[in-house]
Amino acid sequence: MPATLFVSDLHLSGDRPAISERFFEFLRERASRAAALYVLGDLFEYWIGDDELEDQTADPLARRVAQALGALARGGVPVAFMHGNRDFLVGERFCETSGARLLADPAVENIAGTRTLLMHGDTLCTDDHDYQAWRKVARSREWQREFLAKPLPERRKALQALREKSKEVVGAKPAEIMDVNDGAVHEALREHRLTRLVHGHTHRPARHALEVDGRLCERWVLPDWYERGGYLSIDDAGPRLVSF
Ligand code: MN
Repeated sequence: MPATLFVSDLHLSGDRPAISERFFEFLRERASRAAALYVLGDLFEYWIGDDELEDQTADPLARRVAQALGALARGGVPVAFMHGNRDFLVGERFCETSGARLLADPAVENIAGTRTLLMHGDTLCTDDHDYQAWRKVARSREWQREFLAKPLPERRKALQALREKSKEVVGAKPAEIMDVNDGAVHEALREHRLTRLVHGHTHRPARHALEVDGRLCERWVLPDWYERGGYLSIDDAGPRLVSF
């Protein structure tokens, strides 16, 4: 049985063309031989609405990524996508173009015979109270409706302001606050009665072993693609982190 592959935190944007090319190559080569591809959030550095896919003034990268995923899916590799904190506005039109099945966060999927808990990871960072407050607003129907109703140039401007502010706030925060909270990890595994969790977001690729209610569990954290990139591969022999 071929392996199922997991990626997240690619943060694709027009500013970093080398990473985009590496991703296209990954889709053509490694992913084309996979059982399935899961993208667990933050595929894009930002996403301000699916209408960018058709906008002539928008960066063509969004369309290229959707089409490259679509080619993989049409080639017989099922593609699933979960929202991250950067690209939570990815919607139906993107999923149609890319052939991706939109996953809820959290999602439970059968991966190589093991029921596995999948998350982006930001909801586990419960010590970051400012972020959790902002997340609640940004994930509300009202905020999204209002934001998406704005013309694209206005959305781009609003995004720029948000990013500047986020840079300041994140720079001033101690690193521990932006990692997952152990209690939240335990709670997630306990609630779903599962022993394997895969998530991204923290950019701290690793395997963590832990015990929840007497059961041995493992938490796999995906790598980001800022400098190197990589993926998690799961087959009958178990999970394995691969970096480029
Ligand atoms: Mn993230």
